[in-house]
Amino acid sequence: MASSTSVSPRRRKSAAGPNSSRAVLRDVEPGSSVDCAHCGERVKFQAKVRNRQVICNVYVKGKWDRVEHFHSDCYELADEPHGDVDTTPVVKARMRADQNPATPAPEPRAAAS
Ligand SMILES: [Zn+2]
Repeated sequence: MASSTSVSPRRRKSAAGPNSSRAVLRDVEPGSSVDCAHCGERVKFQAKVRNRQVICNVYVKGKWDRVEHFHSDCYELADEPHGDVDTTPVVKARMRADQNPATPAPEPRAAAS
C-alpha cells in the first residue's frame, strides 16, 4: 500500500499572479514626468482636471520587466495590453485608536469615616 502524499501547493485565486502583468488605475500626481506608452505624450498633472493614469507592471516571461504608464483613456484605446485595470482605490488601512476607550474614572468611594 503506497501512501503517497503529494503535496500540492494551494493556489490562491487572485486577479493576477505575482508574475504576470497587471494594471492599476491611479491619480496622476503633481510632478509626474512619465510618457504615455500609447500616445507618447506626457502624463501630466493638471490641477483643474483630475487626470487618471493606468500604471502597468509589465512582466516578461514571468519576470518583472518595466513599468508603463498610460493615460486612462489611452489604455482603453490600446486595447488593454496588460489586462483589466484594477480600479480598486488604494485604501490605507486606518486603524482607529479605539483600543483605549475613554472609561470614566471610577468615583472614589466616599470616605465614610
Ligand atoms: Zn496617452
